[in-house]
Amino acid sequence: MSRARCGRCLRPADHCLCPLIPVLPSRTRVLLLQHPSEVNHALNTARLAALGLSHAQLIVGEVFEDLPTLLNRPGYRARLLFPADDAQPLQAYGATDEPMLLVVPDGTWRKARKLLHLNPLLAALPRVTLAAAAPSRYRLRKAPGPGALSTIEAVVQALQVLEAPASFEPLLRPFEALIEGQIAAMGEDTYQRNHGTKP
Ligand SMILES: [Zn+2]
Repeated sequence: MSRARCGRCLRPADHCLCPLIPVLPSRTRVLLLQHPSEVNHALNTARLAALGLSHAQLIVGEVFEDLPTLLNRPGYRARLLFPADDAQPLQAYGATDEPMLLVVPDGTWRKARKLLHLNPLLAALPRVTLAAAAPSRYRLRKAPGPGALSTIEAVVQALQVLEAPASFEPLLRPFEALIEGQIAAMGEDTYQRNHGTKP
């Protein structure tokens, strides 16, 4: 780990993604709660989302002591983007409704569930889901199932639904560059092993 890193995007300095990261305003506030195991993941997409949105905040931890303050934003209604039987599709929220504080746990399913378990306030939030998620571009690891999205893709899709017709696609630019770079670097054999098919 002797290579110099960019202090902002945390990529090696010679592969800094910052020039590709936009500054997008949004009506929705996004609170990304990241499990510490994700911090050093090569694709730290929650960080890219937080850097690219002017109303987003990323906090790393397992137990979030400040949660009561973080969730109490007058004028915003806090919702957790996480599956549940009674989760509301984001489509149910209109542009005239009170803006949303969209809380997004970041980690594998197991780690995300752990975050909910350790933070009862989080688990108690009303939940929202992406009703019909577009396929993921995240081709590097076998996805746990169809519709499994990286954190940045989930955030983009959620904002596109909540704030249509605004486009949040530019947020994905550094993510796409990262994926293309990783696929090129790992070589076709590894790619096929992880992905199951030819590119
Ligand atoms: Zn950078």
